[in-house]
Amino acid sequence: MDLTWEVVELEAEHPFRISRSTETRVERVWVRVEGDGLEGWGEADPSDRYGETAGTVERALDAMRSVIRRESDPGLIERLERELRIQAPGEAAALSAVVSALCDLAGKRMGVPLWRLWGLDPAAAPVSSFTIGIDEPGVVAEKVRAARGRWPILKVKLGTDRDRELMETVRRAAPDAVLRVDANEAWSPGEALDRMAFLAELGVELVEQPIPADDLEGLRHLRENAPLPLILDESVVDLADVPQVADAAHGINIKLGKCGGPREALRMIHAARASGLRVMLGCFLSSSLAIAAAAHLSPLADYADLDGAALLADDPFRGPRFERGRIVLDPEAPGLGVSRAAG
Ligand code: MG
Repeated sequence: MDLTWEVVELEAEHPFRISRSTETRVERVWVRVEGDGLEGWGEADPSDRYGETAGTVERALDAMRSVIRRESDPGLIERLERELRIQAPGEAAALSAVVSALCDLAGKRMGVPLWRLWGLDPAAAPVSSFTIGIDEPGVVAEKVRAARGRWPILKVKLGTDRDRELMETVRRAAPDAVLRVDANEAWSPGEALDRMAFLAELGVELVEQPIPADDLEGLRHLRENAPLPLILDESVVDLADVPQVADAAHGINIKLGKCGGPREALRMIHAARASGLRVMLGCFLSSSLAIAAAAHLSPLADYADLDGAALLADDPFRGPRFERGRIVLDPEAPGLGVSRAAG
């Protein structure tokens, strides 16, 4: 097999602001594994939060190439993944792209979609939330109204001194929507208790990562005392982190680009269940190529936040569809079931 890649730039439809950063354009790396006349694809979504850039991804792919070149069978993913990790340790975004591409290629060789290869029921795929980034209240209200009818669940980004005003704006513009909140580590434990009481009054369903990732003591206190379920994202990067947070949360947000791909995500889902934790599948700002890899696992999740491609000005791939937010997996398309969009 051979491994090639290209760095591309994706543009957000609206500047994507969360408590610590704003993204307007992001660099992504499209990875291709070729063998026997077929191609498997994957996307690397490097994250600042974990010290990654397109440059670190390219260096990792360069190191991984020899592993792919000396093997001809994409189905030997367990061994390939172990060797890829040895060549480029800690490079989750690059690993996720290569493992996704191997899964895509293996599925195409067998002529079956990944959900079928993994024995999952597409009818069990959850409804995804759609994210409302931080913005001026007027813009937030406009974004919420634009999502009406298409996305019945909204994930609202908070973590500024205007949290209350923004949440009231969202609730007014979407009286019937299911609302989730993500503070991306912005609050102190005291602020989190205060905010969560108010959010519970507004009928919010759950809160994600209210306080800094490593404050497990604060998180345990919140889990005991806050009125809403607590989902951890930044606190849980990969499999080893899952048991550490079993008593500090009600659930975890698993992202392929954060953990190293769909197979590590699957291990995390099982570990979460063993630890009594709920599972959310999330994503970064990304094309449908990255979203597809997570979407095929989504029948195992309680919650999905797979709106990364819906937040783009232009999605360069056609992948899983969303019907009023519900993830629709193609019954036939082999592998990831993704193709380049026309034009
Ligand atoms: Mg999050």
